[in-house]
Amino acid sequence: MTITTLAELSANLRNGKVSSVELTKEYLDRIESSEHNAFISVTSDQALKSALAADKQRSSEDNSSALLGVPIAQKDIFCIEGTRTTCGSKILENFVAPYTATVVQNMHNSGIVTLGKTNMDEFAMGSSNETSYFGDVKNPWSSRQAGGSKGNLVPGGSSGGSAAAVSAGLTPAATGTDTGGSIRQPAAFCNLTGVKPSYGRCSRYGMIAFASSLDQAGPMTHTAEDAALLLNTMAGFDIKDSTSLDVPSEDFTRDLGASINDLTIGLPSEFFGDGLDNDVAVLIENAIKEYEKLGAKIKEISLPNSHLALPSYYVIAPAEASSNLSRFDGVRYGLRAEQYTDLVDMYTQTRTQGFGDEVKRRIMIGAYALSSGYYDAYYAQAQKLRRLISNDFTNAFKECDVIMGPTTPSPAFASGSRSDDPVSMYLNDIYTIPVNLAGLPAASIPAGFTQNGLPAGLHLITPYLSESKLLNIAHQYQLVTDWHRQSPLTTRGNA
Ligand code: GLN
Repeated sequence: MTITTLAELSANLRNGKVSSVELTKEYLDRIESSEHNAFISVTSDQALKSALAADKQRSSEDNSSALLGVPIAQKDIFCIEGTRTTCGSKILENFVAPYTATVVQNMHNSGIVTLGKTNMDEFAMGSSNETSYFGDVKNPWSSRQAGGSKGNLVPGGSSGGSAAAVSAGLTPAATGTDTGGSIRQPAAFCNLTGVKPSYGRCSRYGMIAFASSLDQAGPMTHTAEDAALLLNTMAGFDIKDSTSLDVPSEDFTRDLGASINDLTIGLPSEFFGDGLDNDVAVLIENAIKEYEKLGAKIKEISLPNSHLALPSYYVIAPAEASSNLSRFDGVRYGLRAEQYTDLVDMYTQTRTQGFGDEVKRRIMIGAYALSSGYYDAYYAQAQKLRRLISNDFTNAFKECDVIMGPTTPSPAFASGSRSDDPVSMYLNDIYTIPVNLAGLPAASIPAGFTQNGLPAGLHLITPYLSESKLLNIAHQYQLVTDWHRQSPLTTRGNA
């Protein structure tokens, strides 16, 4: 089996080659027999109902929306009315959402069918999907490692279930969320195209909050064209989210075909220094050469404050998380401890039993950073660094149209190999986090395979609200390479 894109499925549905019900059944069967633990909940009945409705709508309408009847998977961070929504946590193990997230509603309004909810790091905190209460997810590329090792590799995180599901052909696309890299890093580890839109592009209403000033939903697909199609249905102003941007809606596919022969690519020296795996560095250099063949010019640039991104993120994100997660108290949502002595003990027991170690660690760091006496020393300071990091990008974009580099310092690593070392886990996001702090759009696209047979991602960053340009740059590369077409289920070919 090779990869199947949303664009291909959309054409097949339009030409009557396949019905939405047939497609949906096919993907549900694959999910049923898969061993990746990519899904927390599979919503078969609802999916088949929506597929049937989509088929009916198609037969009675001439101009149906592009993705009518196409099945996809949703990260289990998005509330869907009447559906269990766990956010990868024991505290929400049995929580059934009373309303639907706006991005999911937008997709359903376009006739997209939801197959189920994908596995994820607990409350989206993690880079390996190993903090999920619902167990590790297997990276489908594990079996493709050179040298005979077939040990499990992590799919990345926090959107690890979404990445594994798309890569293993259990769904043609999925949603993810990216607070510090959680769309782009798993996309890089699983050979996918993952797009983090500009902050404010997609509504956060009904998306369980981790760090509200950083969280952003986005598509995880095989191709940039598919990402554009999916983003078309996800994005849009939402009165229910005060940080949602009131900008006119756009067709993100409109510039895909534009020439990039006058493109200037900025390469920040900070993204190619110590800590970058040699194999990954070579693949990224090759990808840049491919862009030069397409006419792009290269410019060395600098993001001098990027080394401050990780420390400021690990103050800001936990601070916001400690506030956001205070709502999980055993009174309003989800789990309540069975035995307790009084109200305070009920809170304590519930949160002790309901949250995993990483979530507790973040809550403690965040509460500490926000406490009186320390606020100025940590939180206020981190906000100042955030401004410097953001200014670096503004300056860089005076010299180039797009910034490129590796998405991650290394390819997918072995399950369990970093779970006892939070700092080495945090370093996964060293290139992706500055982008969230600055609110910019960015993507990871497949850029080839290491000698060990594992995918690497090329990271593309463009100015605020320039998703059409970002997708254009990604698409032009995908027209001349076929890394994105490689599937762990087939023999690897050459680009
Ligand atoms: N890995 C980062 C973290 O653990 C980013 C997570 C995310 O983007 N949701 O915070």
